Amino acid sequence: MLCHKCDKPARGVCKFCGRGVCEDHNSKMPIILSVYVGEHHTPKTIVVADVLWCGTCKPQPEPIPMPEIY
Ligand SMILES: [Zn+2]
Ligand SMILES: [Zn+2]
Repeated sequence: MLCHKCDKPARGVCKFCGRGVCEDHNSKMPIILSVYVGEHHTPKTIVVADVLWCGTCKPQPEPIPMPEIY
């Protein structure tokens, strides 16, 4: 697989769109895996930092406001 920007060998694929990204063109983005209500009704999130991202696509869904979380 090749980088979608420069056609160098890809170092990995974008977690969101699956495009190949090389060392020069990868980015990192934290993603929220899930949200849950912990003790004392405190909303908590499970976040995975540094997910490989091509820097071009617009990952969906974006973090969603959840006003009814508690
Ligand atoms: Zn590249
Ligand atoms: Zn992408």
